[in-house]
Amino acid sequence: MDYYEILGVGKNATKDEIKSAFRKKARQLHPDVNKAPDAEERFKELGKAYETLSDDEKRQLYDRYGEDGLKNAGYSQGPFDFGFGGINDIFEAFFGGSMGGFSSGRNDPNAPISGDDLRMDIQIDFMEAVFGVEKEIKIRHLEECEECHGTGKDKNAKDTVCKTCKGHGRVQQNTRTILGNFTSVTTCPACGGSGIDPSANCKQCKGRGAVQKEKTVKIKIPKGVDSGSRIRLSNEGNAGKNGGRAGDMYIVLYVKESKEFIRDGVDIHTVLEISMPQAVLGDEVTVNTVDGEEKIHIPQGIDNLAKLLIKGKGVPYLGKEGQRGNHYVTIKIKTPKKLSKEEEKLYRELFELEKNEKKSGIMEKVKTAFK
Ligand SMILES: [Zn+2]
Ligand SMILES: [Zn+2]
Repeated sequence: MDYYEILGVGKNATKDEIKSAFRKKARQLHPDVNKAPDAEERFKELGKAYETLSDDEKRQLYDRYGEDGLKNAGYSQGPFDFGFGGINDIFEAFFGGSMGGFSSGRNDPNAPISGDDLRMDIQIDFMEAVFGVEKEIKIRHLEECEECHGTGKDKNAKDTVCKTCKGHGRVQQNTRTILGNFTSVTTCPACGGSGIDPSANCKQCKGRGAVQKEKTVKIKIPKGVDSGSRIRLSNEGNAGKNGGRAGDMYIVLYVKESKEFIRDGVDIHTVLEISMPQAVLGDEVTVNTVDGEEKIHIPQGIDNLAKLLIKGKGVPYLGKEGQRGNHYVTIKIKTPKKLSKEEEKLYRELFELEKNEKKSGIMEKVKTAFK
């Protein structure tokens, strides 16, 4: 049947007209309201028609080539591919809440459920972050219960099916709304959604299928990590249920500050105090880097707060073998506060010398100006 006919709109219908036509028809044909034997089939047809005509690209293809056009373009239109989930989604978008009667896989208490991912924060030393380290840490997570192998059921119990929900894990409730009678589905209050009768729960895990366990694992922290870096331990999160995969454990790192080094990304900064004569005349000194002692040259006449570069002695780039940041030494010229007699004498001489030089310098300039 023609999609426009199914929705009861003309070929030139706007998007809004298509939407309101779908709402109107959906209310009439919803299988919980309409008890006609073909209601469910027609409701699915309606969903298919709406899905196509509400999408500009699909509508264009359909207008030109019909259903075959959609198929050739890779849009599946078969009844199997357009599953109940899709209809449920459309329905939820319009009416809110889940639709009774159509139970999709996710409502099945025996369907596999993946375990939760977990996060754990650990603190490491400055140098461990720079050069990497192997550590043994204790993690806590849910592991599959050994007693029931994750089923949550007592091995010896005969009748394990929850009497309230008959094992579905969900119960239906009929509610009257202005749109008609609707069935809403909620988690079974008796079994909490497991579908297992509470009396048949595994004694070890109380029906959860998993137990909290502590485990020691070895982790390799690569060189170059920083605060906030994460390390993923696959499958070390909480156990899954009904054969679902386990979650992952994320180790989040916090790097302790160093008393000696300041880190800025891959670069390391230190401050070096030097004396006036060192600044004026230059010197060779030894500074500490993360690799140990390093000789550096202070050039003559260096300024206060000048930065000296030690190439390649910074932090390794995370995941880039052989590449490292730099170490920068910031120069701080110390002004002496207390002078010995001899020092004072020398500074005075220097002072006088400078004064006289200035004077003679000015006189020279005056002389040449008037020549
Ligand atoms: Zn158990
Ligand atoms: Zn139940």
